[in-house]
Amino acid sequence: MHVVAISPHLDDAAFSIGGLLAAHRRRGDRVTIVTCFTGNVARPQGFALACQLDKGLAPDVDYMALRRDEDRAAAAVIEAEVVHLPHLEAPHRGYASAAELFSARRDDDDILPVLTRSIAEQIASLVPDLLLGPMAIGDHVDHWLVRDAIAATSTSALFWEDWPYLTRAAPAGLSQAACVHALDDADRAAQLAMCAAYTTQIGFQFGSADRLTAAIAAIDEERLHAL
Ligand SMILES: [Zn+2]
Repeated sequence: MHVVAISPHLDDAAFSIGGLLAAHRRRGDRVTIVTCFTGNVARPQGFALACQLDKGLAPDVDYMALRRDEDRAAAAVIEAEVVHLPHLEAPHRGYASAAELFSARRDDDDILPVLTRSIAEQIASLVPDLLLGPMAIGDHVDHWLVRDAIAATSTSALFWEDWPYLTRAAPAGLSQAACVHALDDADRAAQLAMCAAYTTQIGFQFGSADRLTAAIAAIDEERLHAL
């Protein structure tokens, strides 16, 4: 069985369904994590640069290269394969503040057809038995784009509840989960090791490594939904 997770950013699949992916690998299934927004710009400016500086990284550090390395280290924890698509994250497509990342799609953001083609190519070549993507809970614009691109390509994909945008309590208005994976200790340990590999994101997302550990310890299950 081949499980393919289409992740918006370098960390989302591990954060949201790391335990589920680890369980599939332990069962002997093949797992591929395709991350969509991993492209570089030579000299980030404005908000894009601020997103790097606020992680404590100097302006001349190649932030995306660092994050691609983190992603390879995270995948290596469970011996998953990775694919890095070179699309640019929202701060490089004109979204100029944290608030804009979580609001309406910009009129000049024309990435959806390009992203849809690119994801369709991956699905055609990877031939997943189980295709997974983000529900876009939390409303990050990049997560919605990936959800829409997957939905335009596949009718059988299942969508994960984005974590840590919301806690694991199911948000109101969600359909009943099509699949619920209860985490065991081995899943949690693998998920923690995967998430800890994204060292540039831990302070920003969780505050500290201890808080990341506590947050993962509090996860009982990972839920997937059909659209
Ligand atoms: Zn994300």
